[in-house]
Amino acid sequence: MSPRRQDDSFEQLVEALLADEQYQGHPLREALALLWQHTREQLVRLERVTHISDRYQNVAQEQARSMAERYHRQLRQIEKITRISDRYQGMLQDLNNALKEASTHDALTGLPNRRLLTECMKQEDGRGGDYALAVIDADRFKRVNDDHGHETGDRVLVALARTLKEGLREGDMCGRWGGEEFLALLPGIDAAVAAGVAERLLAGVRRLRVAVDGVELPITVSIGLARRRDGEGYHETLLRADAALLEAKRAGRDRCYVAGDGA
Ligand code: GH3
Ligand code: MG
Ligand code: MG
Repeated sequence: MSPRRQDDSFEQLVEALLADEQYQGHPLREALALLWQHTREQLVRLERVTHISDRYQNVAQEQARSMAERYHRQLRQIEKITRISDRYQGMLQDLNNALKEASTHDALTGLPNRRLLTECMKQEDGRGGDYALAVIDADRFKRVNDDHGHETGDRVLVALARTLKEGLREGDMCGRWGGEEFLALLPGIDAAVAAGVAERLLAGVRRLRVAVDGVELPITVSIGLARRRDGEGYHETLLRADAALLEAKRAGRDRCYVAGDGA
């Protein structure tokens, strides 16, 4: 017998038992009647819920069906609603992830943006972390735009971002601070190691070539490096790194200057 037929005959059996005179007043009959009542109420609730998804349901036709048929139909509806709801939840999750990515990363280079960098520096300050900041600024970048167009400038920024990221250690963070300026946060690092990392970044960028109209365009950057001093907030370290960057630019670019303690 099919499950549907089994359900139908079960329903008929319960109806017959409840209607049978000889069981009137029997405690089990009372229990069965209560259970049956409860089942019907559940079905009505089920139908009320699924009705939202099926406005054109023919009520009269529905009532004529056996209870088992109505149950199966409603269960299928619920399954359908659950699948749709799962899909929507997945879409919402994806949307959430995309929004989070957009608010913390730079659209052009895919690197962490200023907001995320600031957040991470604040966190480092909060735990009294030892770190160095490297402000990395593209040299004579205005010329790249002027000579080859803004689109080429954008391509250079993307290539530059990739090169900087590749030159860093695991646990370091490099983001786009703004325009043609990047910022590397180097946690748990001493002055000599930080300077070594900066030299490696300079060397990596020197090797970089961006093809423009069949010509290989060379790129250089200047770096200002500062190590966080005891009791210093990130903006003070950043100011010293900026001052060191200015020195590096003045001294001819394509080099790294390290901020002294007094800078
Ligand atoms: P310096 O070596 O002194 O840093 O010279 P510079 O030309 O790099 O410095 P300046 O601050 O005069 O110019 C920076 C240029 O970077 C100007 C601006 O148009 C360009 N720039 C900033 N953001 C973007 C960007 O997202 N895309 C492109 N293509 N150019 C950008
Ligand atoms: Mg520049
Ligand atoms: Mg700049």
